[in-house]
Amino acid sequence: MLTMNYTYRIYPSANQQALMLEWLETCRRLYNRCLRDLKDWIVSRKCSLYSCSLVREYIMSPDIPFPSYLEQKRQLTQWKKTNPWYKAIHSQVTQDVVKRLHNTWEAFKARGYGFPRYKKFGRYQSFLFPQFKENPIQGNTIKLPKIGEVTINYHRPIPEGFKVKGVRIVSRARGTIWYGVLTIQCDVNVPDPIPFGRGIGIDIGLESFLVTSDNFRVEPARFFSCLQSRLKVLQRKACRKKKKSQNWEKAQLKVARLYHKISNYRKNFHFQTSHLLCDQADMIFVEDIDFRVSAKGMLGKHMLDGGFGQFRDLLKWTCWKRGKYFQEVDHKFTSQICPECNIHTGKKELSERVHICAECGYTTSRDHASGRVILNRGLESVVPVDCGERKLPSNGVLSGVKYLDKCRSRNANSQGLEARALP
Ligand SMILES: [Zn+2]
Repeated sequence: MLTMNYTYRIYPSANQQALMLEWLETCRRLYNRCLRDLKDWIVSRKCSLYSCSLVREYIMSPDIPFPSYLEQKRQLTQWKKTNPWYKAIHSQVTQDVVKRLHNTWEAFKARGYGFPRYKKFGRYQSFLFPQFKENPIQGNTIKLPKIGEVTINYHRPIPEGFKVKGVRIVSRARGTIWYGVLTIQCDVNVPDPIPFGRGIGIDIGLESFLVTSDNFRVEPARFFSCLQSRLKVLQRKACRKKKKSQNWEKAQLKVARLYHKISNYRKNFHFQTSHLLCDQADMIFVEDIDFRVSAKGMLGKHMLDGGFGQFRDLLKWTCWKRGKYFQEVDHKFTSQICPECNIHTGKKELSERVHICAECGYTTSRDHASGRVILNRGLESVVPVDCGERKLPSNGVLSGVKYLDKCRSRNANSQGLEARALP
């Protein structure tokens, strides 16, 4: 089963917008209510049986079952009988709220951190219609249950053979910009890309946005710092306004809209860079560094500004879509090893930008060296399949993956691009 998300901008009328904001608020309250129950139950089970505790006061009857997804879904039907707010919303949407909480809860159990949190006002920004019997899009409108027909910018068609499975409505910039994220599905299997051909290693850093093992550099986009400073100005203006006043509201909206614009620009930059890299190789290796951890360290905010985590996710997706092999490799000591002779050269300070090997004399820039180390590690970890000529998955007969097909055959014909992209 092949699942993809296509995002479209939607333009709800003023009434629809108000209704959708109301739904979001109700969903938020429902989410918090379910989380409250979950927390209470957990706290009550931590409570000592034989003594009173001042801290853990929620003693519940031991018969009360754990508020699991099914249990809370059952409760929801009860609540709906008395609560007109819940009743006003499409029932599958409310059920999905409960599911969302339990997804977070399961993820917390699996990782051991990130306990679900209460959502503050305005922090619940999307809801999902999980099922559609027929295609909700007709011409330039999308038909949403209980909301009605909403204008949509249908800028790219859904590929043949795909069905709309669900629609997530997303609110951005304080509820002034709306998107519909269509989950589309097709009943085919697209094989995962196999390792073969030319590989590159990618070092993601701060000085350059990234450097590949071919010493191909991508500099951070310039418009970005320009927008960033404009954002700072707006933020400064906004915080001088009297809180909750009309002018404050206006200023906040300006900040939110610019912020949204920046994140769109960033995502676009990441996509373009991913495609640029896919043009250059058949296998792409990246270090498996946890950017959130490094963001806590001295590199701090710069790391998060770069959005490296998002970039790696998008790169992985782009690689898959274009049939390129993608793998993460161990990130430890990538900057301390000589790519030529594999010898430890010792720790480099952050300010040290050049790699000079005392053993073999290999000299290059620091990030290029670690890019090559990453490539070496990647090549060690895979057994490239030798298929001589580039073999394309022969799924021309399957409708629906036409788009992927097109991408994959285009790559096969575009060896010339490699030369163009390299400096
Ligand atoms: Zn060396």
